[in-house]
Amino acid sequence: MKRNVSIFDTTLRDGEQSPGATLTTDEKVKIALQLALLRVDTIEAGFPIASNDDFEAVKLVAQTVDGPYVAGLCRAVEKDISRAWDAVKHAAKPCIHTFIATSDIHLQYKLKVSREEALAMAVSAVRFARNCTDRVEFSAEDASRSDWDYLCRVTEAVIDAGASVVNLPDTVGYAEPEEFGRMIRYVREHVPNIDDAVISVHCHNDLGLAVANSLEAVRNGAGQVECTVNGIGERAGNASLEELVMNFKTRAEYFDADTNIDTCQIFKTSQMVSRLTGITIQRNKAIVGRNAFAHESGIHQHGVLSNPLCYEIMNPEMIGKKTEIVVGKHSGKHAVRDGLSSLGYTFEEHQLNTITERIKALADKQKTVLQEDIIAIADDVLNESRMGVAAVKLEEVTVTTGNKTTPTAVITVDYAGEKKIAAAYGAGVIDAVAKAMTKVYGAPLKLEEYELKAITGGTDALADVSVLFTDEEGREYHTRGLDEDIVMASVKALVNGINQMEREKRR
Ligand SMILES: [Zn+2]
Repeated sequence: MKRNVSIFDTTLRDGEQSPGATLTTDEKVKIALQLALLRVDTIEAGFPIASNDDFEAVKLVAQTVDGPYVAGLCRAVEKDISRAWDAVKHAAKPCIHTFIATSDIHLQYKLKVSREEALAMAVSAVRFARNCTDRVEFSAEDASRSDWDYLCRVTEAVIDAGASVVNLPDTVGYAEPEEFGRMIRYVREHVPNIDDAVISVHCHNDLGLAVANSLEAVRNGAGQVECTVNGIGERAGNASLEELVMNFKTRAEYFDADTNIDTCQIFKTSQMVSRLTGITIQRNKAIVGRNAFAHESGIHQHGVLSNPLCYEIMNPEMIGKKTEIVVGKHSGKHAVRDGLSSLGYTFEEHQLNTITERIKALADKQKTVLQEDIIAIADDVLNESRMGVAAVKLEEVTVTTGNKTTPTAVITVDYAGEKKIAAAYGAGVIDAVAKAMTKVYGAPLKLEEYELKAITGGTDALADVSVLFTDEEGREYHTRGLDEDIVMASVKALVNGINQMEREKRR
Protein backbone atom coordinates (compact mmCIF):
# COMPACT_ATOMS: atom_id res chain seq x y z
CA MET A 1 0.00 0.00 0.00
CA LYS A 2 1.19 3.51 -0.82
CA ARG A 3 2.48 5.64 2.01
CA ASN A 4 0.54 8.82 2.68
CA VAL A 5 2.54 12.04 2.83
CA SER A 6 0.89 14.88 4.75
CA ILE A 7 0.86 18.32 3.20
CA PHE A 8 1.48 21.10 5.71
CA ASP A 9 0.76 24.36 3.93
CA THR A 10 2.46 27.49 5.23
CA THR A 11 1.40 29.93 2.49
CA LEU A 12 -0.32 32.12 5.09
CA ARG A 13 2.69 32.18 7.43
CA ASP A 14 6.03 31.66 5.65
CA GLY A 15 4.48 32.62 2.29
CA GLU A 16 3.10 35.83 3.71
CA GLN A 17 6.61 36.66 4.95
CA SER A 18 7.69 36.96 1.29
CA PRO A 19 9.14 40.39 0.66
CA GLY A 20 6.37 42.44 -0.94
CA ALA A 21 3.44 40.19 0.03
CA THR A 22 0.79 41.49 2.39
CA LEU A 23 -2.53 39.83 2.89
CA THR A 24 -5.50 41.30 4.73
CA THR A 25 -7.38 39.12 7.21
CA ASP A 26 -10.17 38.74 4.67
CA GLU A 27 -7.76 37.57 2.01
CA LYS A 28 -6.19 35.09 4.41
CA VAL A 29 -9.57 33.54 5.17
CA LYS A 30 -10.32 33.34 1.47
CA ILE A 31 -7.05 31.51 0.77
CA ALA A 32 -7.58 29.23 3.80
CA LEU A 33 -11.01 28.18 2.48
CA GLN A 34 -9.42 27.39 -0.86
CA LEU A 35 -6.63 25.39 0.84
CA ALA A 36 -9.33 23.32 2.54
CA LEU A 37 -10.87 22.60 -0.89
CA LEU A 38 -7.40 21.64 -2.10
CA ARG A 39 -7.44 19.21 0.87
CA VAL A 40 -4.14 20.11 2.51
CA ASP A 41 -3.71 18.32 5.85
CA THR A 42 -2.60 21.37 7.85
CA ILE A 43 -2.92 25.11 7.32
CA GLU A 44 -0.35 27.16 9.18
CA ALA A 45 -2.38 30.36 9.46
CA GLY A 46 0.18 32.70 11.01
CA PHE A 47 2.38 33.68 13.94
CA PRO A 48 -0.16 34.90 16.52
CA ILE A 49 2.28 36.70 18.85
CA ALA A 50 3.77 38.70 15.96
CA SER A 51 0.95 41.28 15.88
CA ASN A 52 -2.72 41.78 16.67
CA ASP A 53 -3.57 41.48 12.99
CA ASP A 54 -1.79 38.13 12.83
CA PHE A 55 -3.62 36.94 15.92
CA GLU A 56 -7.02 37.95 14.53
CA ALA A 57 -6.29 36.33 11.17
CA VAL A 58 -5.30 33.01 12.75
CA LYS A 59 -8.36 33.12 14.99
CA LEU A 60 -10.70 33.84 12.07
CA VAL A 61 -9.17 31.08 9.94
CA ALA A 62 -9.56 28.69 12.90
CA GLN A 63 -13.22 29.66 13.29
CA THR A 64 -14.00 29.45 9.57
CA VAL A 65 -12.10 26.52 8.12
CA ASP A 66 -13.26 22.95 8.41
CA GLY A 67 -11.18 19.90 7.52
CA PRO A 68 -7.47 20.57 7.91
CA TYR A 69 -5.60 21.18 11.15
CA VAL A 70 -5.14 24.90 11.76
CA ALA A 71 -1.69 25.62 13.19
CA GLY A 72 -0.29 28.72 14.86
CA LEU A 73 3.46 29.24 15.11
CA CYS A 74 5.13 30.22 18.41
CA ARG A 75 8.59 30.37 19.89
CA ALA A 76 9.37 27.92 22.70
CA VAL A 77 8.23 30.29 25.47
CA GLU A 78 5.00 30.09 27.47
CA LYS A 79 3.64 33.52 26.61
CA ASP A 80 4.00 32.81 22.85
CA ILE A 81 2.43 29.39 23.19
CA SER A 82 -0.55 30.73 25.18
CA ARG A 83 -1.13 33.41 22.57
CA ALA A 84 -0.98 30.84 19.76
CA TRP A 85 -3.41 28.60 21.64
CA ASP A 86 -5.86 31.47 22.18
CA ALA A 87 -5.97 31.89 18.40
CA VAL A 88 -6.10 28.26 17.23
CA LYS A 89 -8.32 26.86 20.00
CA HIS A 90 -11.39 27.88 17.95
CA ALA A 91 -10.50 25.33 15.26
CA ALA A 92 -12.18 21.95 14.92
CA LYS A 93 -8.66 20.53 14.65
CA PRO A 94 -6.17 22.89 16.36
CA CYS A 95 -2.40 22.49 16.26
CA ILE A 96 0.35 24.32 18.15
CA HIS A 97 3.63 24.61 16.28
CA THR A 98 6.49 25.59 18.54
CA PHE A 99 10.14 25.93 17.61
CA ILE A 100 13.65 26.59 18.85
CA ALA A 101 16.94 26.58 16.97
CA THR A 102 19.33 23.65 17.40
CA SER A 103 22.38 24.71 15.38
CA ASP A 104 25.39 25.95 17.33
CA ILE A 105 25.52 29.14 15.30
CA HIS A 106 21.94 30.04 16.28
CA LEU A 107 22.36 28.93 19.90
CA GLN A 108 25.55 30.90 20.35
CA TYR A 109 24.77 34.13 18.48
CA LYS A 110 21.00 34.44 18.38
CA LEU A 111 19.68 32.73 21.50
CA LYS A 112 22.87 32.86 23.60
CA VAL A 113 22.06 29.59 25.36
CA SER A 114 23.90 26.27 25.65
CA ARG A 115 22.75 23.07 23.93
CA GLU A 116 21.50 21.73 27.28
CA GLU A 117 19.50 24.89 27.96
CA ALA A 118 17.91 24.80 24.49
CA LEU A 119 17.01 21.14 24.97
CA ALA A 120 15.32 21.92 28.30
CA MET A 121 13.43 24.83 26.73
CA ALA A 122 12.21 22.61 23.88
CA VAL A 123 10.94 19.95 26.28
CA SER A 124 9.14 22.35 28.58
CA ALA A 125 7.58 24.18 25.61
CA VAL A 126 6.20 20.93 24.20
CA ARG A 127 4.89 19.90 27.66
CA PHE A 128 3.25 23.28 28.12
CA ALA A 129 1.66 23.09 24.65
CA ARG A 130 0.44 19.56 25.31
CA ASN A 131 -1.54 20.91 28.28
CA CYS A 132 -3.53 22.90 25.71
CA THR A 133 -3.96 20.34 22.93
CA ASP A 134 -2.94 16.89 21.66
CA ARG A 135 -1.60 18.06 18.33
CA VAL A 136 1.79 19.64 18.97
CA GLU A 137 4.46 20.04 16.34
CA PHE A 138 8.02 20.85 17.33
CA SER A 139 10.54 22.37 14.90
CA ALA A 140 14.30 22.26 15.34
CA GLU A 141 15.13 25.48 13.51
CA ASP A 142 18.23 25.26 11.31
CA ALA A 143 18.25 21.46 11.74
CA SER A 144 20.31 20.97 8.59
CA ARG A 145 23.24 22.87 10.13
CA SER A 146 22.88 21.21 13.55
CA ASP A 147 25.01 18.44 15.00
CA TRP A 148 23.20 15.22 14.07
CA ASP A 149 23.64 13.51 17.43
CA TYR A 150 22.36 16.57 19.28
CA LEU A 151 19.43 16.72 16.84
CA CYS A 152 18.64 13.09 17.70
CA ARG A 153 18.69 13.87 21.42
CA VAL A 154 16.33 16.82 20.97
CA THR A 155 14.01 14.75 18.75
CA GLU A 156 13.84 11.91 21.27
CA ALA A 157 13.20 14.29 24.17
CA VAL A 158 10.40 16.26 22.49
CA ILE A 159 8.67 13.05 21.39
CA ASP A 160 8.87 11.88 25.01
CA ALA A 161 7.35 15.19 26.05
CA GLY A 162 4.41 14.58 23.70
CA ALA A 163 5.20 16.10 20.29
CA SER A 164 3.30 14.24 17.57
CA VAL A 165 5.20 15.86 14.69
CA VAL A 166 8.91 16.71 14.68
CA ASN A 167 9.95 19.05 11.93
CA LEU A 168 13.58 19.17 10.75
CA PRO A 169 13.89 22.26 8.56
CA ASP A 170 16.52 23.38 6.15
CA THR A 171 15.83 26.91 7.36
CA VAL A 172 18.53 28.64 5.34
CA GLY A 173 18.34 26.51 2.18
CA TYR A 174 21.86 25.12 2.66
CA ALA A 175 21.33 21.35 2.33
CA GLU A 176 21.98 19.15 -0.70
CA PRO A 177 19.45 16.41 -1.50
CA GLU A 178 21.55 13.28 -0.83
CA GLU A 179 22.97 14.76 2.38
CA PHE A 180 19.57 15.96 3.62
CA GLY A 181 18.08 12.52 2.94
CA ARG A 182 20.95 10.95 4.87
CA MET A 183 20.23 13.25 7.82
CA ILE A 184 16.57 12.17 7.91
CA ARG A 185 17.62 8.52 7.74
CA TYR A 186 20.15 9.08 10.53
CA VAL A 187 17.47 10.54 12.81
CA ARG A 188 15.14 7.66 11.99
CA GLU A 189 17.81 5.13 12.84
CA HIS A 190 19.13 6.76 16.00
CA VAL A 191 15.99 7.95 17.81
CA PRO A 192 14.45 4.98 19.65
CA ASN A 193 10.93 6.43 19.97
CA ILE A 194 10.83 7.85 16.41
CA ASP A 195 7.76 5.79 15.45
CA ASP A 196 5.68 7.70 18.00
CA ALA A 197 5.87 10.84 15.84
CA VAL A 198 5.80 11.90 12.21
CA ILE A 199 8.99 13.39 10.79
CA SER A 200 8.34 16.58 8.85
CA VAL A 201 10.63 18.71 6.70
CA HIS A 202 10.52 22.39 5.78
CA CYS A 203 12.94 23.36 3.03
CA HIS A 204 13.91 26.74 1.65
CA ASN A 205 14.89 27.42 -1.92
CA ASP A 206 18.03 29.55 -1.59
CA LEU A 207 19.97 27.14 -3.82
CA GLY A 208 16.92 26.08 -5.83
CA LEU A 209 16.74 22.72 -4.03
CA ALA A 210 13.72 23.04 -1.73
CA VAL A 211 11.58 20.55 -3.65
CA ALA A 212 14.47 18.15 -4.34
CA ASN A 213 15.48 18.16 -0.65
CA SER A 214 11.89 17.58 0.48
CA LEU A 215 11.44 14.66 -1.94
CA GLU A 216 14.69 13.08 -0.82
CA ALA A 217 13.57 13.44 2.80
CA VAL A 218 10.32 11.61 1.98
CA ARG A 219 12.30 8.79 0.35
CA ASN A 220 14.22 8.50 3.60
CA GLY A 221 11.21 8.36 5.87
CA ALA A 222 9.71 11.84 6.32
CA GLY A 223 5.91 11.66 6.48
CA GLN A 224 5.09 15.35 6.17
CA VAL A 225 6.33 18.13 3.92
CA GLU A 226 5.89 21.82 4.61
CA CYS A 227 5.36 23.94 1.54
CA THR A 228 3.64 26.94 0.01
CA VAL A 229 1.50 27.58 -3.04
CA ASN A 230 3.68 28.83 -5.92
CA GLY A 231 6.71 28.29 -3.67
CA ILE A 232 6.46 31.78 -2.17
CA GLY A 233 8.16 32.49 1.16
CA GLU A 234 11.08 34.13 2.94
CA ARG A 235 13.89 35.10 0.54
CA ALA A 236 13.94 32.66 -2.41
CA GLY A 237 10.86 30.96 -1.02
CA ASN A 238 9.79 27.55 0.25
CA ALA A 239 9.25 24.19 -1.40
CA SER A 240 6.40 24.57 -3.85
CA LEU A 241 3.24 22.64 -2.97
CA GLU A 242 2.20 21.98 -6.55
CA GLU A 243 5.62 20.67 -7.56
CA LEU A 244 5.80 18.29 -4.60
CA VAL A 245 2.28 16.99 -5.10
CA MET A 246 2.70 16.45 -8.84
CA ASN A 247 5.98 14.61 -8.27
CA PHE A 248 4.15 12.13 -6.04
CA LYS A 249 1.30 11.87 -8.51
CA THR A 250 3.34 11.61 -11.72
CA ARG A 251 6.03 9.33 -10.28
CA ALA A 252 3.84 7.29 -7.96
CA GLU A 253 5.77 4.07 -8.63
CA TYR A 254 9.08 5.77 -7.79
CA PHE A 255 8.00 7.27 -4.48
CA ASP A 256 5.39 4.67 -3.55
CA ALA A 257 3.67 7.53 -1.78
CA ASP A 258 0.73 9.83 -2.36
CA THR A 259 -1.01 12.83 -0.79
CA ASN A 260 -4.64 13.71 -0.01
CA ILE A 261 -4.54 16.70 -2.36
CA ASP A 262 -7.31 17.21 -4.90
CA THR A 263 -4.98 18.12 -7.75
CA CYS A 264 -7.89 19.59 -9.76
CA GLN A 265 -7.83 22.54 -7.34
CA ILE A 266 -4.14 23.34 -7.93
CA PHE A 267 -4.49 25.82 -10.78
CA LYS A 268 -7.28 27.81 -9.16
CA THR A 269 -5.40 27.96 -5.84
CA SER A 270 -2.23 29.07 -7.59
CA GLN A 271 -4.04 31.86 -9.44
CA MET A 272 -5.76 33.07 -6.29
CA VAL A 273 -2.55 33.17 -4.24
CA SER A 274 -0.73 34.98 -7.01
CA ARG A 275 -3.42 37.60 -7.37
CA LEU A 276 -3.97 38.24 -3.67
CA THR A 277 -0.28 38.33 -2.69
CA GLY A 278 0.65 40.31 -5.80
CA ILE A 279 3.50 37.86 -6.49
CA THR A 280 3.35 36.93 -10.15
CA ILE A 281 4.12 33.42 -11.34
CA GLN A 282 7.08 33.16 -13.69
CA ARG A 283 5.97 31.96 -17.13
CA ASN A 284 8.12 28.87 -17.15
CA LYS A 285 7.32 27.87 -13.55
CA ALA A 286 6.83 24.10 -13.31
CA ILE A 287 3.18 22.94 -13.11
CA VAL A 288 1.45 26.34 -12.82
CA GLY A 289 3.40 28.67 -15.13
CA ARG A 290 1.60 29.88 -18.23
CA ASN A 291 4.02 27.95 -20.45
CA ALA A 292 4.03 24.76 -18.39
CA PHE A 293 1.82 22.94 -20.91
CA ALA A 294 2.48 25.04 -24.01
CA HIS A 295 4.20 23.26 -26.89
CA GLU A 296 5.91 25.65 -29.25
CA SER A 297 8.05 23.63 -31.66
CA GLY A 298 6.34 22.02 -34.65
CA ILE A 299 7.84 18.61 -33.94
CA HIS A 300 6.47 18.70 -30.38
CA GLN A 301 3.05 19.91 -31.50
CA HIS A 302 2.82 17.14 -34.07
CA GLY A 303 3.88 14.56 -31.47
CA VAL A 304 1.34 15.75 -28.91
CA LEU A 305 -1.45 15.70 -31.48
CA SER A 306 -0.58 12.10 -32.47
CA ASN A 307 -0.38 11.00 -28.86
CA PRO A 308 -0.07 13.40 -25.90
CA LEU A 309 2.24 10.93 -24.14
CA CYS A 310 4.94 11.73 -26.72
CA TYR A 311 5.77 14.94 -24.89
CA GLU A 312 3.37 15.27 -21.96
CA ILE A 313 4.08 13.55 -18.65
CA MET A 314 1.07 15.31 -17.09
CA ASN A 315 -1.94 16.96 -18.62
CA PRO A 316 -3.38 20.35 -17.71
CA GLU A 317 -6.73 18.83 -16.68
CA MET A 318 -4.95 17.09 -13.78
CA ILE A 319 -4.34 20.46 -12.13
CA GLY A 320 -7.76 21.81 -13.08
CA LYS A 321 -6.52 23.84 -16.01
CA LYS A 322 -8.78 23.53 -18.99
CA THR A 323 -7.02 24.01 -22.30
CA GLU A 324 -10.19 24.92 -24.11
CA ILE A 325 -12.04 28.15 -23.45
CA VAL A 326 -14.87 27.50 -21.06
CA VAL A 327 -17.01 30.52 -21.86
CA GLY A 328 -17.36 32.74 -24.92
CA LYS A 329 -19.55 35.54 -26.15
CA HIS A 330 -22.34 33.19 -27.16
CA SER A 331 -22.36 30.83 -24.25
CA GLY A 332 -24.80 31.46 -21.48
CA LYS A 333 -25.29 31.09 -17.80
CA HIS A 334 -25.19 27.30 -17.96
CA ALA A 335 -21.71 27.24 -19.42
CA VAL A 336 -20.53 29.69 -16.76
CA ARG A 337 -22.21 27.65 -14.03
CA ASP A 338 -20.60 24.41 -15.25
CA GLY A 339 -17.23 26.04 -15.74
CA LEU A 340 -17.18 27.57 -12.27
CA SER A 341 -18.59 24.49 -10.56
CA SER A 342 -15.85 22.35 -12.10
CA LEU A 343 -13.37 24.76 -10.51
CA GLY A 344 -15.02 24.21 -7.14
CA TYR A 345 -16.85 27.56 -6.87
CA THR A 346 -20.13 27.88 -5.04
CA PHE A 347 -22.32 30.92 -5.64
CA GLU A 348 -25.85 32.23 -5.53
CA GLU A 349 -28.03 32.90 -8.53
CA HIS A 350 -27.61 36.71 -8.49
CA GLN A 351 -23.83 36.33 -8.24
CA LEU A 352 -23.86 33.94 -11.19
CA ASN A 353 -25.83 36.52 -13.19
CA THR A 354 -23.28 39.24 -12.45
CA ILE A 355 -20.34 36.96 -13.26
CA THR A 356 -21.96 35.93 -16.57
CA GLU A 357 -22.66 39.52 -17.55
CA ARG A 358 -19.08 40.55 -16.86
CA ILE A 359 -17.62 37.59 -18.74
CA LYS A 360 -19.82 38.37 -21.74
CA ALA A 361 -18.84 42.02 -21.66
CA LEU A 362 -15.22 40.96 -21.69
CA ALA A 363 -15.84 38.47 -24.52
CA ASP A 364 -17.31 41.34 -26.53
CA LYS A 365 -14.09 43.28 -26.20
CA GLN A 366 -11.41 40.61 -26.37
CA LYS A 367 -11.65 37.65 -28.71
CA THR A 368 -10.77 34.95 -26.26
CA VAL A 369 -11.69 34.72 -22.60
CA LEU A 370 -9.25 32.44 -20.87
CA GLN A 371 -9.70 30.49 -17.69
CA GLU A 372 -7.47 32.96 -15.82
CA ASP A 373 -9.92 35.77 -16.76
CA ILE A 374 -12.93 33.76 -15.59
CA ILE A 375 -11.28 32.97 -12.26
CA ALA A 376 -10.35 36.64 -11.79
CA ILE A 377 -13.89 37.85 -12.53
CA ALA A 378 -15.53 35.22 -10.32
CA ASP A 379 -13.19 36.05 -7.42
CA ASP A 380 -13.88 39.75 -7.88
CA VAL A 381 -17.68 39.36 -7.88
CA LEU A 382 -17.72 36.95 -4.94
CA ASN A 383 -15.40 39.25 -3.04
CA GLU A 384 -17.66 42.25 -3.64
CA SER A 385 -20.64 40.33 -2.26
CA ARG A 386 -18.68 39.28 0.80
CA MET A 387 -17.74 42.90 1.47
CA GLY A 388 -21.40 43.85 1.91
CA VAL A 389 -22.92 47.29 1.49
CA ALA A 390 -20.45 49.87 0.21
CA ALA A 391 -20.43 53.42 1.61
CA VAL A 392 -19.00 54.87 -1.59
CA LYS A 393 -20.43 54.02 -5.00
CA LEU A 394 -18.84 55.31 -8.17
CA GLU A 395 -21.27 57.02 -10.51
CA GLU A 396 -19.15 58.74 -13.14
CA VAL A 397 -15.54 59.23 -14.00
CA THR A 398 -14.03 61.26 -16.83
CA VAL A 399 -10.33 61.59 -17.53
CA THR A 400 -8.43 63.60 -20.09
CA THR A 401 -4.82 63.23 -21.02
CA GLY A 402 -2.51 63.74 -23.97
CA ASN A 403 0.95 64.99 -24.88
CA LYS A 404 -0.07 68.67 -24.58
CA THR A 405 -2.78 68.34 -21.95
CA THR A 406 -2.54 68.37 -18.18
CA PRO A 407 -3.97 65.04 -17.02
CA THR A 408 -7.24 65.71 -15.19
CA ALA A 409 -9.96 63.62 -13.62
CA VAL A 410 -13.54 64.44 -12.67
CA ILE A 411 -15.38 61.95 -10.52
CA THR A 412 -18.92 61.70 -9.19
CA VAL A 413 -19.72 59.33 -6.38
CA ASP A 414 -22.59 58.47 -4.13
CA TYR A 415 -21.17 58.80 -0.63
CA ALA A 416 -23.63 57.43 1.94
CA GLY A 417 -26.59 58.66 -0.12
CA GLU A 418 -25.09 62.05 -0.91
CA LYS A 419 -23.82 62.99 -4.36
CA LYS A 420 -20.26 64.34 -4.40
CA ILE A 421 -18.23 65.68 -7.31
CA ALA A 422 -14.53 66.47 -7.38
CA ALA A 423 -11.95 67.37 -10.01
CA ALA A 424 -8.16 67.27 -9.83
CA TYR A 425 -5.10 67.29 -12.03
CA GLY A 426 -2.00 65.22 -11.55
CA ALA A 427 1.25 63.92 -13.00
CA GLY A 428 -0.77 61.34 -14.91
CA VAL A 429 -4.41 60.27 -15.07
CA ILE A 430 -4.06 57.75 -12.24
CA ASP A 431 -2.51 60.40 -10.03
CA ALA A 432 -5.33 62.81 -10.98
CA VAL A 433 -7.95 60.17 -10.13
CA ALA A 434 -6.29 59.47 -6.77
CA LYS A 435 -6.27 63.19 -5.96
CA ALA A 436 -9.90 63.66 -6.96
CA MET A 437 -10.82 60.67 -4.82
CA THR A 438 -9.02 62.20 -1.84
CA LYS A 439 -11.08 65.37 -2.29
CA VAL A 440 -14.32 63.41 -2.36
CA TYR A 441 -13.33 61.49 0.71
CA GLY A 442 -12.28 64.63 2.55
CA ALA A 443 -9.33 63.02 4.33
CA PRO A 444 -5.77 62.48 3.14
CA LEU A 445 -4.95 59.14 1.58
CA LYS A 446 -1.33 58.43 0.87
CA LEU A 447 -0.77 56.12 -2.08
CA GLU A 448 2.24 53.97 -1.13
CA GLU A 449 2.22 51.36 -3.86
CA TYR A 450 0.48 50.95 -7.18
CA GLU A 451 0.75 47.87 -9.32
CA LEU A 452 -0.86 47.11 -12.65
CA LYS A 453 -0.96 43.64 -14.14
CA ALA A 454 -2.70 42.12 -17.16
CA ILE A 455 -4.46 38.88 -16.29
CA THR A 456 -3.90 37.46 -19.78
CA GLY A 457 -1.98 38.91 -22.74
CA GLY A 458 -2.84 41.66 -25.21
CA THR A 459 -3.80 45.33 -25.00
CA ASP A 460 -7.46 44.33 -24.57
CA ALA A 461 -6.62 42.20 -21.53
CA LEU A 462 -8.33 42.34 -18.19
CA ALA A 463 -6.36 44.73 -15.98
CA ASP A 464 -5.75 43.93 -12.34
CA VAL A 465 -4.70 46.91 -10.23
CA SER A 466 -3.54 46.57 -6.67
CA VAL A 467 -2.97 49.58 -4.46
CA LEU A 468 -1.57 50.01 -1.01
CA PHE A 469 -2.33 53.25 0.80
CA THR A 470 -2.24 54.61 4.30
CA ASP A 471 -4.69 56.82 6.17
CA GLU A 472 -3.92 59.68 8.57
CA GLU A 473 -3.04 57.27 11.38
CA GLY A 474 -0.71 55.27 9.17
CA ARG A 475 -3.02 52.26 8.90
CA GLU A 476 -2.42 50.28 5.70
CA TYR A 477 -5.09 49.32 3.21
CA HIS A 478 -4.42 46.90 0.41
CA THR A 479 -7.13 46.64 -2.24
CA ARG A 480 -7.62 45.68 -5.85
CA GLY A 481 -9.71 46.61 -8.86
CA LEU A 482 -10.44 44.58 -11.96
CA ASP A 483 -11.55 45.98 -15.30
CA GLU A 484 -10.83 45.87 -19.03
CA ASP A 485 -9.75 49.49 -18.78
CA ILE A 486 -6.72 50.40 -16.70
CA VAL A 487 -8.19 53.73 -15.54
CA MET A 488 -11.40 52.03 -14.44
CA ALA A 489 -9.47 49.23 -12.71
CA SER A 490 -7.50 51.90 -10.82
CA VAL A 491 -10.65 53.81 -9.87
CA LYS A 492 -12.28 50.60 -8.63
CA ALA A 493 -9.21 49.75 -6.53
CA LEU A 494 -9.36 53.20 -4.91
CA VAL A 495 -13.11 53.02 -4.30
CA ASN A 496 -12.68 49.56 -2.76
CA GLY A 497 -9.98 51.02 -0.55
CA ILE A 498 -12.18 53.86 0.69
CA ASN A 499 -14.96 51.40 1.41
CA GLN A 500 -12.56 49.27 3.38
CA MET A 501 -11.54 52.33 5.42
CA GLU A 502 -15.18 53.16 6.05
CA ARG A 503 -15.84 49.64 7.33
CA GLU A 504 -12.76 49.87 9.54
CA LYS A 505 -14.04 53.17 10.95
CA ARG A 506 -17.43 51.70 11.78
CA ARG A 507 -15.82 48.77 13.60
ZN1 LIG B 1 10.59 28.86 6.64
